[in-house]
Amino acid sequence: MKAAPFAYVRPGTIDDTFAELGRDGAKVLAGGQSLVPVLAMRMGRPSTLVDINAVPELNTLSRSNGSIRVGATVRQRRLQNDDLSALVPLLRLALPWIGHREIRSRGTVCGSIAHADPSAELPAVASCLDATMVLTSARGRREVRASDFFTGAMSTVIEPDELLTEMLFPVAVSGEGFGFGEFARRHGDFALAGVAARVRTVGSATDARITCFGIADHPVTADISAPLRIVLEQVGSSPTESDLRRALAVQADDIAADVVDTGGDAHASAAYRRQLIAGLLSREVSRAYLKSIRSASEVASS
Ligand SMILES: Cc1cc2nc3c(=O)[nH]c(=O)nc-3n(C[C@H](O)[C@H](O)[C@H](O)COP(=O)(O)OP(=O)(O)OC[C@H]3O[C@@H](n4cnc5c(N)ncnc54)[C@H](O)[C@@H]3O)c2cc1C
Repeated sequence: MKAAPFAYVRPGTIDDTFAELGRDGAKVLAGGQSLVPVLAMRMGRPSTLVDINAVPELNTLSRSNGSIRVGATVRQRRLQNDDLSALVPLLRLALPWIGHREIRSRGTVCGSIAHADPSAELPAVASCLDATMVLTSARGRREVRASDFFTGAMSTVIEPDELLTEMLFPVAVSGEGFGFGEFARRHGDFALAGVAARVRTVGSATDARITCFGIADHPVTADISAPLRIVLEQVGSSPTESDLRRALAVQADDIAADVVDTGGDAHASAAYRRQLIAGLLSREVSRAYLKSIRSASEVASS
């Protein structure tokens, strides 16, 4: 099948981009890795594709005010290879899981988040970190937190005339540790289920949250501080990863039952996805906790 006819424009300035996006039926073209297949299958029929790749200020990657800022045309592979991504360890853990190197060389970070595939890695990372999306149009600029951004399968609060101009990912602070894991039938496939984990330890206080993906129509975030504290009381002061995983496994089934919200599909049943989430979260939360302890003790000894 071929795409339905469309007009193509490639503005060179941000103002021209907003003017083009204000036209009826216009659609942003970034890396094209999701949009082009959608057009080829005629699942979308935009009147005009607005190619944003010639706007220089959208191609910026920088650090400011406790965040790394990722502009709309920054490729996933550029971020993966840039030293700045080390400041947001969850991004470093998640980016290699996206498709294949060739996909990441074209696909943009913002494009993945705007596309909002429920099985995609970057929306889960943004949700776990409660990252900030900067949405801009000829009408002005607004910031939206990830917790308010994803509204359903492939749907977000972005208005038709708005551009996701940049993502702000918070830089990790001392005492934070992260984990990321997913299960797909082949490397590079979208995940059947995945978990991003963030644990923070300050003194004797620990809090933790996970974001699960591939298991509902959008990433699902849960605060699991209370079950993790129960586990920490059981395992004593210097647990190994396997001690933690064993103890967490007891809590994990209940957490998985809460977050998995799908009737199942041709790829996997809901019960199988619950099993995957339980296994992944036991492992990734254990790893995140141990990293958070290491990070907290490095600060204490420095
Ligand atoms: C074979 C294959 C395997 C893949 N595997 C994975 C995978 O495992 N995990 C994964 O997460 N992804 C995967 N992808 C998708 C890939 O990561 C895409 O790059 C990404 O989803 C979209 O980024 P893009 O820049 O290509 O966006 P495009 O395809 O250009 O756009 C996607 C959608 O987002 C909109 N959009 C793009 N940028 C903006 C913006 N700045 N503001 C507003 N709207 C915007 C477009 O209008 C369009 O609706 C795969 C793709 C392929 C072809």
